[in-house]
Amino acid sequence: MDSDSDNSIGEHVCAIKTDIVIIGAGCAGLECAAKLYSFGFENLVVLEAQDYIGGRIKTTLINEDETLPLEIGANWIHGYLGNPIYRLVIENPDLFVHKKKKLFDIFTDQIYCADENGKYYAPSFYESLWEKYNIWNLEAKALWVKSVKSEFTTYTEFMINKLEQLMDEENLSEYERKIKLAIMNRFLKQETAESGCATMDLLSVNEYGSYLKPFGPDYEFPGGFSGLIQFLADKIPKNSIKLNHAVEQITMFDDEETPMLVQCKNGTSYRAKHVLVTTSVNYLKKHYQSLFNPSLLTTKKIEAIQTVKMDTVDKIFLFYEDMSFFPENCDAVHPIFTNQPENVCMKTDWKYKVYTFDKFYDNMLLVWITGKEAEYVETLDNEEIGDTLTDLLRKVLNNKNIPKPDRVFKTQWKMNPYVLGSYSYVDVNGQANKHINDLAEPLYINNVPRVLFAGEATHLRYYSTVHGAYLSGQREATRLFEFYSSKK
Ligand SMILES: Cc1cc2nc3c(=O)[nH]c(=O)nc-3n(C[C@H](O)[C@H](O)[C@H](O)COP(=O)(O)OP(=O)(O)OC[C@H]3O[C@@H](n4cnc5c(N)ncnc54)[C@H](O)[C@@H]3O)c2cc1C
Repeated sequence: MDSDSDNSIGEHVCAIKTDIVIIGAGCAGLECAAKLYSFGFENLVVLEAQDYIGGRIKTTLINEDETLPLEIGANWIHGYLGNPIYRLVIENPDLFVHKKKKLFDIFTDQIYCADENGKYYAPSFYESLWEKYNIWNLEAKALWVKSVKSEFTTYTEFMINKLEQLMDEENLSEYERKIKLAIMNRFLKQETAESGCATMDLLSVNEYGSYLKPFGPDYEFPGGFSGLIQFLADKIPKNSIKLNHAVEQITMFDDEETPMLVQCKNGTSYRAKHVLVTTSVNYLKKHYQSLFNPSLLTTKKIEAIQTVKMDTVDKIFLFYEDMSFFPENCDAVHPIFTNQPENVCMKTDWKYKVYTFDKFYDNMLLVWITGKEAEYVETLDNEEIGDTLTDLLRKVLNNKNIPKPDRVFKTQWKMNPYVLGSYSYVDVNGQANKHINDLAEPLYINNVPRVLFAGEATHLRYYSTVHGAYLSGQREATRLFEFYSSKK
């Protein structure tokens, strides 16, 4: 790499001198800062563009006695085996338990499945395909783990082929095939929210297994996920976190000791030995050309930024005074569409992307939406969203009297200029082993790791998650610790 600096020290003598600048106060940035402190690096600063800490972890409390968290971002601790976040909660119950709420696991086991004409499908029928789907899903995962290449490119092709083989063996009628295909399409929509991609046509089936979900069910974070963020922030001095400090440019200048220069939009600048970048991969895609002085970037890094993908997953919360219309003892209503139009017109047809109405609280339903449809919904007003979803719910539950929600709240992760989407995945042009590792690789100048990278998208097996972000922060703190230890 060309290490020529563009600036002389004179120009930037006012820049605040520190050892390490961390860009982003999300889970990765805060855990890196906390770990560095524990290693004895005390001269560091965390620059956060927004007016809150946590990034894609953001909890609000919806009721007056503050016992019901509403997660705008991350929702669950995914599994327990090997999940460091689960460990933290278990080891620090007093810190995380908000009021009397306990860590509890979610099993959505009571499903009401019906189509857009209100036709109900019995659990035995619905679940038999769900069981098959899960077996095929494990087969898809095994491809990457065993380094075997499928004849199919996308996850959708792989799954539809499995379904067709099954339906041929079962000798089904055209009508039965249509229903099973509609159910499969529902499973694929759900998978987009889990995988973070707009449609499963984009996700590489051969790379699917690179994502590893820790064994075990999903756990709700007691009192809300922001408890984790506060827990991490409490490990570092308050004044080392600077809110409303959007970094505009990272460059180098002539200074042996602190050659990195980090300039913020608000006019503040910092000189440092090392810079850790934890912004989302979509933020990097959009800004890397202006964020980094071109001499800092390598071709490998640019290719990784361009190749690792990130789409949109949003939530819509529907609040009701009275939810007695919801099927009794039911955790979720799963709509399936037997007559979905081929060419979807976003304005009238975004509803076809809806795959669940989850009963999250006694007075609240949660709807997930992904991809282009999510990006469209982000632009709609809440009344229109409420009307469309009420119309769908009325049809699926065959009940014209279902009231409109009293309140609708939607997340807007794509519109957030400092996130620009939800979480990362590996598409058909990507290779996890190469592109994720290249994204994580520091930029070295004269064998010194000057610009380091963390964040969920840089974790080879746990990308897209809080635990991936957390471990990536630890990884980079350890890298710096080992770098200095090796020099002693
Ligand atoms: C809707 C949704 C649901 C999710 N559900 C789950 C779940 O159930 N379980 C799970 O494990 N994960 C979930 N995730 C994913 C999880 O939230 C993320 O993987 C994780 O929080 C990412 O942390 P991070 O530190 O890598 O990035 P971020 O949280 O994005 O942190 C990066 C920070 O950098 C800041 N920043 C950006 N640009 C600049 C700049 N120029 N200057 C200064 N600061 C800047 C941003 O404002 C941000 O605060 C979900 C995410 C979303 C959006």
